[in-house]
Amino acid sequence: MKPKVFFLPGKDKSELLERLPLLLGRLIDKGFATNAFCGVKVHVGEEGNVTFVPAEFARAGVHFLKQKGARPFLFETNTLYYGQRSNTLDHLRLAAEHGFGSENVGAPLLIADGIRGEASARIPLKGKHVREAQIASLVPNIPCIVGFSHFKGHMLTGFGATIKNFSMGCAARNGKLQIHSLSKPWIDVERCTSCGECQIRCPSDAIEIKGGDFVIVHAKCTGCAGCIGVCTAKAVRIKWNEASKSASQKMAEYALAALSGKEAFYVNFLVNITKDCDCLGKKMEPIHEDVGILASRDPVAVDQACLDMVEEEIGSAHPEVDPAVQLAHGERIGLGKRDYELEEL
Ligand code: SF4
Ligand code: SF4
Repeated sequence: MKPKVFFLPGKDKSELLERLPLLLGRLIDKGFATNAFCGVKVHVGEEGNVTFVPAEFARAGVHFLKQKGARPFLFETNTLYYGQRSNTLDHLRLAAEHGFGSENVGAPLLIADGIRGEASARIPLKGKHVREAQIASLVPNIPCIVGFSHFKGHMLTGFGATIKNFSMGCAARNGKLQIHSLSKPWIDVERCTSCGECQIRCPSDAIEIKGGDFVIVHAKCTGCAGCIGVCTAKAVRIKWNEASKSASQKMAEYALAALSGKEAFYVNFLVNITKDCDCLGKKMEPIHEDVGILASRDPVAVDQACLDMVEEEIGSAHPEVDPAVQLAHGERIGLGKRDYELEEL
């Protein structure tokens, strides 16, 4: 049987907000046990970005889940790159500035991978690339998940939405490094202040002083990414050298690991559709008019349906990247199905 994808068309934010409960009601046609924990996966947008999914939608989702009897909370993970979301304190401050504070949304935001992205849980996997996924430690303990994902272009994978939100967005820092890079981190001596913090924190004794400089000995380094988080000088660098195809396939495998054993519902917002993702800390112009909101219980089907609606623009935004790779691999490994039945509301 084809998975159902519900489509709420609309270009006006107020109208979409008003009709969101209708969509969620079709998607989540059940009540929850009283006060059952339910995590809503969001992305609060990097500092300077203005095209992330507005917090009003998270607030409406929280309100809906409370009416269904659940005890909702928002969750997110810290970033691999240095920015305003690479540690929990700055991340929460920025989230509040972007409207994701509990007083506005009606539920707290939890950062799921520790204060610097160091808290990971190992999930074994028989993937083509991933044998052990490093998922944010909170994620395996969340019994029910609702994904609020922004559909937009992405320079590495063509587009990002639900699969990206539950792979990169649910990986701890070492998991993000595994997806993004084929190599171990290195230290930029021009930036390094020789504070020694990374050497103290390295669990593999892989950081040594050679010729007066701190260096990472790659033969010893396990790629845990701990040194990236502790370096306040931003001197531990990453080669963003993973090829598009394998990164896309790794993302599908990570999503499978993050979602295993969970009850999950996926909502994709086709609003503010930009060429690049919400991790870019700058103002971007949309490349496509707003389409509406799509929702499904199948993470592959909901992303495929979105791509089908805007593929021409997304495809031309990053012509060197095949956006279907993550979908094809997702279907191959049992994450979901690409063939779906669309129901317009
Ligand atoms: S933590 Fe950063 S600044 Fe300190 S020694 Fe390591 S690389 Fe250099
Ligand atoms: S990535 Fe982990 S193992 Fe490698 S140098 Fe950094 S802290 Fe050490």
